[in-house]
Amino acid sequence: AKTLGKARTETFDPSMHGHAMARLQIEIDLRKALERQELRVFYQPIVSLKTGKITGFEALVRWQHPTSGMIPPIKFIPVAEETGLICAIGWWVLQQACQQTRYWQERFPSEPPLTISVNVSGKQFTQSNLIEQVDRILQETGLAPTSLKLEITESVLVENAEAAAAVICQLRAMGIQFSIDDFGTGYSSLSYLHRLPIDTLKIDRSFVNNVDCEPEKIEIIRTIVALAWNLGMNVVAEGVETKTQMYQLQALKSEYGQGYFFSKPTDSEAVEALLMTQPDW
Ligand code: C2E
Ligand code: CA
Ligand code: CA
Ligand code: CA
Repeated sequence: AKTLGKARTETFDPSMHGHAMARLQIEIDLRKALERQELRVFYQPIVSLKTGKITGFEALVRWQHPTSGMIPPIKFIPVAEETGLICAIGWWVLQQACQQTRYWQERFPSEPPLTISVNVSGKQFTQSNLIEQVDRILQETGLAPTSLKLEITESVLVENAEAAAAVICQLRAMGIQFSIDDFGTGYSSLSYLHRLPIDTLKIDRSFVNNVDCEPEKIEIIRTIVALAWNLGMNVVAEGVETKTQMYQLQALKSEYGQGYFFSKPTDSEAVEALLMTQPDW
């Protein structure tokens, strides 16, 4: 009876119960959110550190909750991943982002045209209809495949290496580009890098942030830039927050930058204001 009692207390640990309930509530709300169209796509510019011009945007999902306000992805992406809802969300984000970018390309012509970077989760990446989905969305929105960049993390490449490689090669053959997100924080298994048609390494913001105060971070960035250069890849420094950091990254020959210094992720209206004023970085 004693052990049973103990087991019971563990099962009904009030904090665990609360946690599970909270997750369940998020799942229920998230399903409704998709139906009720409460999700939003925000956009953050990616800037050429050579010219100071906006070359494209990263699409970042937000949840405009009717009572809780704007919910950041950290609060619901993990639940979405666990429940598989991430796939529906991910395709919706891709559709929105491609449509929006197609419109901006017409309204704000540039050479090359503005690009759009979209995060693709591991779950989406192993869906059997991935290529059809991407192809369908490009057809529907009329966006050129060369304007689309898909961001994946190292874990996607490592956990399902062969399937991932096949999918990347097929999409790359269509003209779609690939970026490795949060580069340097994951497995950092360099063996896959030279075997796959990856275009861009996005240096994680933990290395970029405070680069002006911590010399060892300079060396890490220097190494990633050299690696990318040797493999014929581009580099985007994430999380650029100050002008000093921007100068430092320019000096380190990072080709592109992204971060609060240029702009926080914003809604499409604020993006248009940004594209109209063409700030001088
Ligand atoms: P991520 O892909 O690494 O996106 C960059 C995150 O860094 C964004 O957070 C962005 O707001 C934040 N950030 C950008 N510049 C700065 C800066 O200068 N300083 C600081 N401190 N942060 C900066 P956000 O929008 O909260 O997104 C968090 C994560 O959620 C993303 O990280 C990504 O992993 C995931 N996520 C967002 N949207 C999607 C999506 O549509 N699909 C999937 N699968 N994941 C998404
Ligand atoms: Ca990303
Ligand atoms: Ca990132
Ligand atoms: Ca290349």
